[in-house]
Amino acid sequence: MRSNPIDYELVAPSSLSAVVSLLAQQPGEWLPIAGGTDLMVQYAAGKLSARKLVSVWNLPELRRIDVSDAEVAIGAACTYTDIREHEVVAQELPLLAAAASWTGGIANQNRGTLGGNIVNASPAADSLPALLVYEAELILVSSRGERRVRYTDFHIGYKEMLLARDELIRAISLPRRVSGYVSYSRKVGARNAQAISKVCVAGLGRIVDGRVSDVRIAAGSVAPIPFRLRETESLVKGNPLTADLVQAARKVAISEVRPIDDIRSTAAYRSAVLGNLVAEFLQNLSSGGSEVLTRWNSLSVEEAAEQILHCCGSSTWARRLAARRPLNNEAALLAASDEIWHGLEPADWLEAFSKHPRIGERKAPSAASSQSASWSAQEQKSVGAASDSVQQELADANREYEHRFGRVFIVCATGKPAEEMLEILQRRMQNDESTELHTAAEEQRKITNLRLKKWLNS
Ligand SMILES: Cc1cc2nc3c(=O)[nH]c(=O)nc-3n(C[C@H](O)[C@H](O)[C@H](O)COP(=O)(O)OP(=O)(O)OC[C@H]3O[C@@H](n4cnc5c(N)ncnc54)[C@H](O)[C@@H]3O)c2cc1C
Repeated sequence: MRSNPIDYELVAPSSLSAVVSLLAQQPGEWLPIAGGTDLMVQYAAGKLSARKLVSVWNLPELRRIDVSDAEVAIGAACTYTDIREHEVVAQELPLLAAAASWTGGIANQNRGTLGGNIVNASPAADSLPALLVYEAELILVSSRGERRVRYTDFHIGYKEMLLARDELIRAISLPRRVSGYVSYSRKVGARNAQAISKVCVAGLGRIVDGRVSDVRIAAGSVAPIPFRLRETESLVKGNPLTADLVQAARKVAISEVRPIDDIRSTAAYRSAVLGNLVAEFLQNLSSGGSEVLTRWNSLSVEEAAEQILHCCGSSTWARRLAARRPLNNEAALLAASDEIWHGLEPADWLEAFSKHPRIGERKAPSAASSQSASWSAQEQKSVGAASDSVQQELADANREYEHRFGRVFIVCATGKPAEEMLEILQRRMQNDESTELHTAAEEQRKITNLRLKKWLNS
């Protein structure tokens, strides 16, 4: 049954000290309300037992994000919009920024707060796994003063937490010491936005000298509270991330969680997905954080070869590189690519050359993919800015080159002005066939490496 609004009292003191002294005078009588996105749902459902609400929404101390050398302190009443739009948070704490961006819709992000998410303590709350892996601390305030609690200790059972009845969360402190880490987060729900998680995972890890030097994995929606998968972490830490270890970690992760069947999902589905996400994170970590490489490593040889053909148009190169997988990071990919390229026949090199447009010519050969054509245009953009006479000289020199060598002139054009390319072309006209073929092959190798890097960051 709906409650009568008259039964409720809402006050909004203008200072933090006034709020904490109200909480101290009548502990448990007054319930803090921030954005109200959880409490108003309870109210509308007739389930809000508290009758006296004290607003913390407008308290300046709770609405700011302070950045010091050691930490980022996010005021508890900062909204998801405040969080995802903050430059330092976006750059250094991408897992939190990502969680903020997929929490509810825009209206909810403008109103819902991080403090509210923590105290509402839903096992499915999206920002909480990120706070766990960032090893956040909560700064709690009451009329007795402030204290810090490690966030990992804060939730002690379903909707139970280490927050006294007269206390507020003032801020959430996140240490700034996670540079060089690979970040991973996934929310699996009925759809990407506006859905409560069936499973959510946040992961952070670093590999040094081929071994996992640090790893942190937290999961939500798979137990009464979000928590760190400590056994999985200890299994992995200190070891090279082999395929066997990833599979073992998947099993340990599944054994650590206690999901339930409910209207959104089944326990069996949640366990299986959790295992998949942990394995995906670890594969990602071993690939140096490149999701592109992780996905590519899992394709068939044909699909994988197809995906890289726009980096270098030799089909033999693409097939041989695809057959070398798994390649776990950029350095391994480039090293394998170079080695394969050097071992190819001249006919394979010529096939790759034939996918390039002439320097200065907009139209790519019909055999080139649209990605390859658009990269060629970017690589050669300096030609468009050159004077008409230089462009004309380039076109003439191209024709002479093709007449002499029977193929298109290949040069790694990135960063070179048109005049420089013209000068290189004229110089290379003096080469004999074999020297010129190997020079062009070396230029193609450089182009391939730049394109592979672009592809990894795509
Ligand atoms: C349409 C909709 C979609 C949603 N989608 C998602 C989603 O995708 N992911 C997700 O995680 N959540 C989602 N939520 C839940 C909700 O928006 C979040 O939990 C939000 O962060 C709650 O913040 P609030 O400020 O609105 O909390 P409020 O409703 O104001 O308060 C929630 C609880 O926190 C306490 N509280 C608030 N601030 C403090 C403080 N500083 N100190 C101590 N206690 C405090 C309150 O007393 C109350 O118990 C959704 C809600 C709605 C209505």
